[in-house]
Amino acid sequence: MNSEIKKEFLDRVKALEERLGYQFKDKSLPLTALTHRSFAVEYHKKITDYEVLEFLGDAVLSLIVSEILIKTFPEAREGELSQIRSAVISEAYLSKLARVLNLGELVLLSRGEIAQKGMERESLLCDVFESVFGAVYVDCGYEIETPRKIFNKFFKDRLIQDIKKGDIPRDYKSLLQILTQKIFGKTPKYRVITAEGPEHDKTFTVECSIEGLKTTGIGKSKKEAETKAAQKAFMELSQKEKEEKN
Ligand code: MN
Repeated sequence: MNSEIKKEFLDRVKALEERLGYQFKDKSLPLTALTHRSFAVEYHKKITDYEVLEFLGDAVLSLIVSEILIKTFPEAREGELSQIRSAVISEAYLSKLARVLNLGELVLLSRGEIAQKGMERESLLCDVFESVFGAVYVDCGYEIETPRKIFNKFFKDRLIQDIKKGDIPRDYKSLLQILTQKIFGKTPKYRVITAEGPEHDKTFTVECSIEGLKTTGIGKSKKEAETKAAQKAFMELSQKEKEEKN
């Protein structure tokens, strides 16, 4: 398999190895980790895309992050830990980590995706970050030790700092739900008001309503718009709560 890997691909694999400080035994794994589906479709020979490694890497990262969290916050309860973990392994946060290693420039994309600056998209950066950790995990014979060492070397200190500073994306939909349950004994409702633009590039406006309070959020996906609307409602309600306590 190794001898079949073309030089242009091998350069990317080498660059990835240098950035990780890790030499792959099977060079086809890092190549797969860097291959976006659009490239696999466009390329005339058979080549595997990163989706299965991404699926695996998602679980690998979840395990590594869980370990850091329970060791750093030994007093935290399960609910709190899982909220922090889902914020950490979110697209918004993992894409930030992918940027630290400049993974975007190593991804093999179709010409169309390159023209649309696909390598800068959060979702793509997050996926590649996951697939790279999936590739290391498989290359080591499915053991967690090496991917954990690589992750910790680059990201552990930063991650702990970001959590302590509150500098990780928060899951405002669940925060709001917990708060409205407490105040009203009810959960908020979400409704799409508008979805505008062409199919591949829609913009959504979502309304969040709870007990007479209405907020709206705009985003490139329903989820993003809901999160923004939830954030506004959460801010307003928690502010009111504070004022009433004082
Ligand atoms: Mn993903």
